[in-house]
Amino acid sequence: MADHHEQVVALLRVHLKLHESRRELELEKMRKNNKKVPTDKSFCTMCDLSVYGSLNFHRKSQLHQKLKSFLHPKCFICRKEFTVRADWDEHLLSVEHLKRKAEVLRQKGEEAAENVEGVRRLRKESQWCMS
Ligand SMILES: [Zn+2]
Ligand SMILES: [Zn+2]
Repeated sequence: MADHHEQVVALLRVHLKLHESRRELELEKMRKNNKKVPTDKSFCTMCDLSVYGSLNFHRKSQLHQKLKSFLHPKCFICRKEFTVRADWDEHLLSVEHLKRKAEVLRQKGEEAAENVEGVRRLRKESQWCMS
């Protein structure tokens, strides 16, 4: 499981690098057309990547968010954040969490519970990473 986790993170970082190098080419083109583009680079430690423009802008990007939610998953039901993914996996099976989840299920139905837990999204991500 841990191995799988590392693979997904490594793949996400490769995607991030590809995405950023494509962005650099685009920025280069825009600069040649005398458009105003960011020239300063910032370093994102989470992505292990230098990016053009502000770090705040980068942090809002889809890929960064993906990596973040993978590395630091959240339980939206219990409003808890986890710095270690294994703790999150464990939490999803904890009595405390299952009780709350049952409550949400009762109130909103299964669809909503899956969404708030973020499970469906993460499942999609792993598929996306493997394709
Ligand atoms: Zn990042
Ligand atoms: Zn929970």
